[in-house]
Amino acid sequence: MTPLESNQTEGLVCSHHHLYSSLARGMPAPPSLPTNFRTILENIWWRLDAALDLDSIYWSAALGALEAVRSGCTTIIDHHESPMAIEGSLDAIARACDDVGVRHVLSYGVTDRWNNGVLTNSPTRMSDGARRGLAETERYIASGGRAMVGVHASFTCSDETLEAAADLARRLAVGVHIHVAEGPDDDRAAQRLTHLADDSWLLVHCVHLSDELPGTIVHNPRSNMNNAVGYARPTRFSNRVVLGTDGIGADMFEEARIAYARLREHDVTATPDTVWKWLENSYALAPESRDDVVSWTYDHMHEPWRLAFTPGVTPTDVVIDGRAVIKEGRVTTVDVDEVRAKAFESAVHLHKKLES
Ligand SMILES: [Zn+2]
Repeated sequence: MTPLESNQTEGLVCSHHHLYSSLARGMPAPPSLPTNFRTILENIWWRLDAALDLDSIYWSAALGALEAVRSGCTTIIDHHESPMAIEGSLDAIARACDDVGVRHVLSYGVTDRWNNGVLTNSPTRMSDGARRGLAETERYIASGGRAMVGVHASFTCSDETLEAAADLARRLAVGVHIHVAEGPDDDRAAQRLTHLADDSWLLVHCVHLSDELPGTIVHNPRSNMNNAVGYARPTRFSNRVVLGTDGIGADMFEEARIAYARLREHDVTATPDTVWKWLENSYALAPESRDDVVSWTYDHMHEPWRLAFTPGVTPTDVVIDGRAVIKEGRVTTVDVDEVRAKAFESAVHLHKKLES
């Protein structure tokens, strides 16, 4: 491989995305104003995911994938939920990512929070939806797809489901991708997962995590601020830390700048090197991104102290697996205007469904 120039990097990795959130922008206001993490989930995200069908899943993912490559992100580690369209959902996301040309590691996030269409607190039994979600993952991996076993979070799952997910992951030799202690509602996550987790797990958020769990911690600073769940203080554990966006685009340098500002607010002696190491750490999860080459509009791409204070750095060329997905600023794989128009059409349809 030719060495990278000062305006080039390897492909960036978004270690926790929700491609299905791309069409959330412009959605109708929730029926009542969410006042905490739990009601944000109930009034916004759990309404949106229940309204998704295979068409809106595809266009959400296509728009999100397009935005990712235009931000120099060449691998998306996605976490998906669509309780009314489980079967085939991972194929729809994979197809959208393949059409755009971005690498992907998918997961279907299982949950027991729905019992015959009614929200249940502290579920005690495995639901039909969770069973079908695990089957979707198994089917997708058996068909050659790259995935992890997804779990929404321990507080919306019974022990039976958590054990079945961990068991499936071991059997398929993949990790589990799970939200952990994002808000105070999930503060028992450490106790409930301690006998199940291993180093292959992706532990997303960990804001309210009381004890160390094995696995990689995915830090999502902007999402955590947006949900007012607090600062995760990811440096307090010895785990490997990586960065995700939690569905707010896939601009990893922007996320890194926010992560740095948040870290610095907590510790004024911290340097951007800590955060740039988190970006680097994600190559352990998606080593093939190192084969991708991104050329940027800025000539100091290997200097975190400059990048931490330089907004608006964008790619001019993105080569993924030897293929020029962006060439001289133009996307070569899909018609950008068509993707935007189709995604907008799909969003209008989805938002109408939410209103009814
Ligand atoms: Zn998330």
